[in-house]
Amino acid sequence: MTVSTRMIPTDRLRRPMGSLRLSVTDRCNMRCRYCMPEEEYRWLPRSSILSFEELARLTALFAGLGAGKVRLTGGEPLLRHDLPDLIGKLAAVDGVRDLALTTNGILLAERAAALRAAGLGRVTVSLDTLRPERMTEFARSDRHADVLAGVSAAVSAGFDSVKINAVIIRGYNEDEVLPLLAFARAEGVELRFIEYMDVGGATRWTHGQVVSQAEILAAVAEVHGPVTTVAARAAAPAERFRLSDGTTFGVIASTTAPFCRDCDRSRLTADGTWYLCLYATDGINLRDVLRAGASDAELTDLIRAAWAARADRGAEERLAVPGRGALYQVETLRADPRREMHTRGG
Ligand code: SAM
Ligand code: SF4
Ligand code: SF4
Repeated sequence: MTVSTRMIPTDRLRRPMGSLRLSVTDRCNMRCRYCMPEEEYRWLPRSSILSFEELARLTALFAGLGAGKVRLTGGEPLLRHDLPDLIGKLAAVDGVRDLALTTNGILLAERAAALRAAGLGRVTVSLDTLRPERMTEFARSDRHADVLAGVSAAVSAGFDSVKINAVIIRGYNEDEVLPLLAFARAEGVELRFIEYMDVGGATRWTHGQVVSQAEILAAVAEVHGPVTTVAARAAAPAERFRLSDGTTFGVIASTTAPFCRDCDRSRLTADGTWYLCLYATDGINLRDVLRAGASDAELTDLIRAAWAARADRGAEERLAVPGRGALYQVETLRADPRREMHTRGG
């Protein structure tokens, strides 16, 4: 079904609803220092986690309001049991026209074919380093070879697109901008550099560790020559660039050049809390409304009204914070784990 533009609500900044990120679990099998640096976490109670049927029902309502692009994330989404079953249900939802997954890749090699067969269209693998020892140190995982195997398996599985996301952090991997680009090119996938963001969970964030889009482009241009801009979809988070040999890559400059004015995204946590912005303090509890027996029309009205009232521009507002440091300290995150990036979904 194509959603008529008349039905698509716009928010107070005239932004239509266009995409939904579904965090299917808050659990993760890595501990990236920019996302999960602590020794212990408070997890969402098991009974609060939405079933596949509940997730599919809410997704259908969002898709009916224009959110036809759906990305599964987490935590690590491949830790959710029977994920291909969920993919199959979501792929069958009227109005879902793009189904994607962001994963750390550890379990991807063994699952890629089943995910593709179930109807998953696109995959993004997070890979910040080509050096296994760096991943062990920085993400507390020695499964580097599995991540690389995951990238290859995703390419072989024939997805519509496979991308690699790399967060570049000064003092960690800023010397890997060019090697990562060369790796992605050799694998035949597009790389997207991500600026280090001061999101919930990044309790050790400092401005000095952010490697900006300008620095990344300068490092690439120094070796590859002029970099030209490629036109991208207005609401896409990445700006895309092309090298003279035709290689394309993206940069997600959420920290130094945020793109809130075009943001069409919202996020649903695994326990059914809906966030209108990555930086929002609080979300809307759709789970309780759903489990109390609300009709589709009632839920749709609730979602439509909340979107119409949306004026969030979290990353842009952060630009104006004097002496900007981490968004939250660990106590605030423990008080509400939905403020964590790994719960809210990146
Ligand atoms: N676990 C999966 C993964 O790592 O791909 C999916 C969830 S993860 C939260 C989604 C994305 O958020 C990853 O690409 C990760 O690198 C990114 N991310 C997490 N914390 C970040 C931060 N502080 N700054 C920038 N990107 C971050
Ligand atoms: Fe790393 Fe993703 Fe896990 Fe966060 S959720 S610790 S980014 S693998
Ligand atoms: Fe969208 Fe909020 Fe991110 Fe801005 S900070 S791009 S409004 S999710």
